[in-house]
This record gives sequence, structure tokens and C-alpha cells, in this order.
Amino acid sequence: MDLRPTGHSLSTKSHSSQCIGSCPYCSCGCSFIVYSENNLVKDIYGHPADSVGMGSLCTKGLTYLQEIVNSEFRLRGYYLNKEPISRQELLRVLRENLIGKKIAFILTKQASAEDYLVASQIGEVFVDAPVVGFKTRTLDLKDWPRVKLIISIDAEPTLSDVMAMRFVVDAIEAGAKLICISARYESLCAKAHERELLNLGEMVRFLQRHLRLDGEIGKLLRAFRGGLVLFGAHLFLTPARAWFEYFLKKVREMGANYAIVGDIVRFEAREIGELFLNLEKFDAIVSIGNGFRYFSDEELELISKKFSLSFSAVPDFSINVSNVGVGLSLVPERGFSAFRGGLREGIYSNRCIASPSGCEEPWRLLSEVFEIKSLGELKLQDAKALNKEEPKGFLEAKRWIYYLGGLCEELGHWGYWTHGLEPTQRLILPKGESFTNPKLESIEKVHSANIAKGAVFISPEFDEYQPFFAGIRPGSFQGRPFYLVEALT
Ligand code: SF4
Repeated sequence: MDLRPTGHSLSTKSHSSQCIGSCPYCSCGCSFIVYSENNLVKDIYGHPADSVGMGSLCTKGLTYLQEIVNSEFRLRGYYLNKEPISRQELLRVLRENLIGKKIAFILTKQASAEDYLVASQIGEVFVDAPVVGFKTRTLDLKDWPRVKLIISIDAEPTLSDVMAMRFVVDAIEAGAKLICISARYESLCAKAHERELLNLGEMVRFLQRHLRLDGEIGKLLRAFRGGLVLFGAHLFLTPARAWFEYFLKKVREMGANYAIVGDIVRFEAREIGELFLNLEKFDAIVSIGNGFRYFSDEELELISKKFSLSFSAVPDFSINVSNVGVGLSLVPERGFSAFRGGLREGIYSNRCIASPSGCEEPWRLLSEVFEIKSLGELKLQDAKALNKEEPKGFLEAKRWIYYLGGLCEELGHWGYWTHGLEPTQRLILPKGESFTNPKLESIEKVHSANIAKGAVFISPEFDEYQPFFAGIRPGSFQGRPFYLVEALT
């Protein structure tokens, strides 16, 4: 990162130091300036010279970088079966229960590449995102405004890679045509020149018909001499994954570019669904972030017989069900390299203030426990040729359940004003349709004209321990294997 502080302070609040970092909470990696005093974040601004954020930070970035850092709900300290213990006692418990044991790590968005590297040395790494062995983009974000045709397939930057939306808007302003094919109308669709509202099964059929040389999309891609096709990352964690890998290949064959929008992992790791199938073989489960919220009641019962450790910024579901809970250091308090996201790599944030007492960087603590001296290197997932053959058969379902949230992510529900963006967990259905599921009875149902027929959306960003509304954690209603879009047949 070669940005320097601005000549004049952007903050009018009293501060004694400033520091530049990069937000790792999506793959836009907006640069920011933290103004601090007495080791507290007093103010934070997007860096005006950053070519991606251009002086802005989105709500998610501000929440994670300032709101949660200063939150009164912040978890500090070390807990054994919910009772406070000293750091020395913590080290003893961890040595006793982790060294020589088979450990599964669940790394959520709160985990850094440094955490990933240490976890990979002492256990198996599982992530709550699709893991892919192909390039996640063939055109850099900054080149998006040059394209004349953008086709979005269930991609919504506003809910994931927020600042990427700017580059789409710049392309439209410069005359690009935008076509949106999605299961719910979102901000991107509102700007589109043409729209199709389709559930997952219909979407696969539509693309199979039109994303070919003699199909409507194929003709457009050729007429516009290429173009950019955006794919929502969640599509690669659905039963239709093989189809979308095949469509990526078709896009390239037609001379167009693609980019995966959303949370995705290209480094060696396994998807969390594999952990559910192999729980028996592990002695200990370690979560960085709120990873235990993905487990069903039966799996939690099994885990209760093993050793469990959670690092979290707040006393969330994972902290409450683990044997050992540890306060987690947040981005301004630690050097943090990102290892998730498809649009940019190499996002690194400097340590701007010291960690509060009782908050730890997981990789440093685990290195101390296991006496690890070096981090090693990130390894890409095995490069897999994209699915060459057209998959056989279509997917039939009476209903497609989308486990996708809105503007507020799980940790955002611990912030007063961000929780207000999505104050209740809702099940959103198309107009005129009904859906019953005993596990979801307590969740408010809302009908909307903006949802594709045969689809239903439910946010997985809630858990039973959030302070303002006791929602239901995803593990209690999501099916197995773990998909972000599930078929009910
Ligand atoms: S757009 Fe992404 S990188 Fe930028 S502030 Fe928001 S979450 Fe952070």
C-alpha cells in the first residue's frame, strides 16, 4: 500500500494519530484513514486517493472497522465454560486439548490469511463460502467501465462487493447496456435495461438456451464484441454448480470476460458442508468468527463431546456453545491480509491501534501454543479445467430456498444503526405463493413482487444470541449438504 496521509486531516474530531489501512470485508479493499487517540478509533474516512473507494467506505466497512471495534458489546477476555480465566490458564487448556489432536478450523470472514496459514499447519481448514479451482475474474475491476455490455447473473455488488457497483454505474454512464438475470430484483436490476426474474432451475434453462453462439446472449456478446458477465458467487455453492462452471467456459469461448461477485475462496480449503459429513473424525473444532451458527442441534450435541474453541468479537452463538471463548482482535488492531473474495487480491491492512487487553489475533495465540515459527505460503486450490461438457439433465424443484441476506451481515446485527437496516429475520416469498416449514414458523412471512416464482429468501445472518432480536441461526434450518440455494423437491 503506497498511500500517504492527506495533507490536512479529514476528521474534525480530536485525535493524536492517523494510520492508513485497507478494508478486507469484501474484495474491493477500499483504503481508509483511521484517526485515533488513547488507542481508540475516533474517526475513520475512506482515503480520497484510493482509486477504488475514492474516499468512501460502505456501511459494512464502517460497521466492522469502527462501530464494532468501539462497541459496548465487545467481548474481551478468556472464558472456560463461560467462567473467566487468565491468559496463562488459557494457554494451558489449549495445549492440553489441541496439541496432538485432530483439529477442524472453521474460518469465517473474520479470519485473516495469517490465521488461515497457521490453521492449515495444525489442522484442516473449512470455510463458509464456495472454494473454486478457477480464476475468479478475467477483467480487472478498474477496466469494467470500458465494456459496452454487462450481463449480471444473480450478482448483486451492493450486498457483497459494494464499491464494485461504482464501476458498473460508470460503464452504464459511458453507454454500456446492462442486462440483469436474477432471482430477486435488487439495486443492480433497478439500473438494468432488460431484466429476467428467474429461480435457479429456470435460470439454468434460460442460460442453456441463450448462452450459446446462436442464442440471444451469444449474439449480443458477439455484437458488442465481448462484454462482461457477472456471476453471483453463491451460484457455485448450489446443486447447479456444474452448470455455472460450464457457463463460465461458454462466456470465455464467446470472447467475453467474467467476474465472480461475492464471497469466494481460491486457496486450498474445504467447504463447510464437508465438515458436517466428517465431524466424527475430529477431536476439536476451532472457529474464527461465528462458525458454530452453521451446525444443526444434532451436530452441536456431537460437538459437545469434543473440545471447542471460538474467537469472536462479541458474545455470539459460537462463544456461547464453545468450551473456550476468546475475544477477537479486529482489523484496525492487527495486521490483516485477506484471503477471500474474487475481484482483487493482495488486500492488506496495517495495524493502526493496539488490541484491547483480552483480545487476540488467533494465529499469534495458536503459534504460541504450537510453537510455530513461520507462516508459510498461500497455496491456490488445484486448478481445475472448467466443466467442458454440458451437464446432463436439469434441476427440478417445487421450491428453491435462497439462504442469502440483505444489507446487514451477522456481525452488523450487533450495531444499533446497522441492525436497524434489517431489524427482523424475514422469509420473503413471491406474491400469491405460500410456503410452510415447521422450523421457520416463528419467522415473519412477507410477500414481494421482486422475488422469482418458486423461490423463497431467508436471511442466514441471525442467531439466537444477537442483542436486539433473537433470530434463528442458519444451522437450525439449512439442509445438508450445505448449499446457499437449496432445492425442495
Ligand atoms: S466496499 Fe468492501 S472494501 Fe469497501 S468499505 Fe465496503 S466492505 Fe470494505
